[in-house]
Amino acid sequence: MNKAIVIGSGFAGLASAVRLINKGYDVTILEAQENLGGRASVFKEGGYIFDAGPTVITAPYLINELFELLGEDPKNYYELIPIDPFYRIIFHDGSKFDYVGEESRILENIRALSPSDVDGYRRLAKHAQDIFDVGYTKLADEPFDTVSSMLRAVPDMIRLQNYRSVYGLVSKYIKDERLRMAFSFEPLLVGGNPTTITSIYLLIHWLERKWGVFFVKGGTGALVESFKKLLILKGAKIYTKASVNKIDVQSGKVKGVITTDERYFPCDVVVSNADPVRVYRDMIDSQHRTKHSDFRLSLKKHSMSLFVAYFGTKKLYPELAHHTILMGPRYKGLLNDIFSKKHLADDFSLYLHAPTRTDSSLAPQGHECFYVLSPVPNKDGKINWREEEKRYKEKIYKWLEKRQLPGLMDHLTVDFSITPDYFENNLQSEKGAAFGIEPSLVQSAYFRFHNKSEDIQGLYFVGANTHPGAGVPGVLNSAKVLEKMVPDLNPKFTMRGTRAPKDFSHTRIENRFE
Ligand SMILES: Cc1cc2nc3c(=O)[nH]c(=O)nc-3n(C[C@H](O)[C@H](O)[C@H](O)COP(=O)(O)OP(=O)(O)OC[C@H]3O[C@@H](n4cnc5c(N)ncnc54)[C@H](O)[C@@H]3O)c2cc1C
Repeated sequence: MNKAIVIGSGFAGLASAVRLINKGYDVTILEAQENLGGRASVFKEGGYIFDAGPTVITAPYLINELFELLGEDPKNYYELIPIDPFYRIIFHDGSKFDYVGEESRILENIRALSPSDVDGYRRLAKHAQDIFDVGYTKLADEPFDTVSSMLRAVPDMIRLQNYRSVYGLVSKYIKDERLRMAFSFEPLLVGGNPTTITSIYLLIHWLERKWGVFFVKGGTGALVESFKKLLILKGAKIYTKASVNKIDVQSGKVKGVITTDERYFPCDVVVSNADPVRVYRDMIDSQHRTKHSDFRLSLKKHSMSLFVAYFGTKKLYPELAHHTILMGPRYKGLLNDIFSKKHLADDFSLYLHAPTRTDSSLAPQGHECFYVLSPVPNKDGKINWREEEKRYKEKIYKWLEKRQLPGLMDHLTVDFSITPDYFENNLQSEKGAAFGIEPSLVQSAYFRFHNKSEDIQGLYFVGANTHPGAGVPGVLNSAKVLEKMVPDLNPKFTMRGTRAPKDFSHTRIENRFE
């Protein structure tokens, strides 16, 4: 049996391991961190369970099909709880908008804020659906490794006005500035600036409307644990605290990998879920690289980073939604500070995660567990986070106390935070980027890192830096692209689940929660 090494255990690494097992490989996962999950790992403190990163689970069929691929029933592994509203957006003037999935309710909520935008939203949603039908249904799990694959997509991109930004396209249909924010902020979930990112990413809006928004019972970490259980059951070997620092390449082919503690793992195939900039530049001698020279790698533009504070309170806030977006006084100006000027602004917009509103088991009884996230410049902004961290966190807490969580400071129990330094050092992400390279038009599809290395035989990439990009659905789709490129060793292998189901009712998950 051929040996495959997967470097990294983010969702892309875990999904790749499943797909490689299904293709007949003997799979070993090497994870640098103490726990699996990468951005989706878990912090446990004082009786609280904090998901470190992803909390909004969409397109559940992408998860289900991985368990089904190896002959397992997802019901025996995890439970997905539908979230309603998907997000509550609270604007700086105090008004609010509940973003929900049902057509009649979303129209009602739009009417309450801006009656003249109801028709515009209908047309916007239709446009988002058209983009989804091409950008997601046709292309999300297709390899973009040739110029011709890119050229084939261009006529649709022009027809769908993908030369406009998400904010630009939303503004064509919607007049109310608050609703423009509400329908354009989603690219931030994949590391893009809504005012510059191509409107292809408007597909996220339709993806959520189509399949819904879910939370994993027990937190996203419970899903990572389910993958671990599945992989061990199916024979994968998993090593944590195993940071790879060299890929052994001989005559243009991968032969093995070496960890920082000098263990050698021979293999036929390497699938890297680690940052490709770091992998090419730091793990592979330059003599083996023609396409990915150090100079070319230095030209990559990286997504923004995040400041995230995790905290618990000995007080309940029952009026809160599970997901709240708190808009600050500025939108375009703040985005410009974060993405272009790389300057830490005095104001912020925040995402507040309150998982105990859905699952009280994540905190001690009578307590609430939270994280608050603020998009901040990546490490191209020369911010000294060791000096800023405490000041920035206190500023956020005070703002939260005033706007959303009365009595917060008196009821705070545990709290800690991560900064761009965490992404750079712990997750080994270039420039401390939270979402890999920026999803700009010139770094998307064919222009993103290819899933199959052009320089080295047997080397593959998955995850946020590859097509189709960041976000849990994106990185799970990158493993589907991988599946199409890695040689098949299993004569019984079938490409199951390679197409998105037409509508949600075709998936098992809905039946479970009906
Ligand atoms: C705070 C936050 C909130 C988010 N919220 C959402 C959300 O709600 N919904 C959503 O869909 N997306 C969300 N995202 C985005 C999403 O989490 C990521 O895009 C996705 O999880 C990335 O998965 P990945 O597999 O590409 O990489 P990662 O999860 O980063 O995994 C990469 C792994 O590789 C390991 N690694 C790196 N270098 C080495 C090495 N040399 N040797 C061994 N291992 C190595 C790392 O330790 C890590 O475990 C969020 C991201 C963040 C940071």
